[in-house]
Amino acid sequence: MGLTADELRTSLEVIAAWRSDPDISLNCPRCGTAGLALADRSARPYAEWYHLACAGCGLDETIHIPLGSPTMGDFD
Ligand SMILES: [Zn+2]
Repeated sequence: MGLTADELRTSLEVIAAWRSDPDISLNCPRCGTAGLALADRSARPYAEWYHLACAGCGLDETIHIPLGSPTMGDFD
C-alpha cells in the first residue's frame, strides 16, 4: 500500500490538471492507464483529500494536501 515518491508527485500533477479541467481524461499515476477515477473528499478550509482509484492496476489511494499556506489562507 501507499504511493512512492514518484507516484505521489504524479498524483499531484493529475489532481492539478483535474482541478483546472474536471472533464479531462486522467491517467493513473501508477500504471499510466487512462480512466483514473478521482473524487474530491476535501474538508475545506482545513485540508484537501482526493481519492484516486484505477481499475487497471487496482490503485486505491487517498491523497492528503494540507492547507494553511499564507498564500491560501485569505478567508476574510
Ligand atoms: Zn493504474
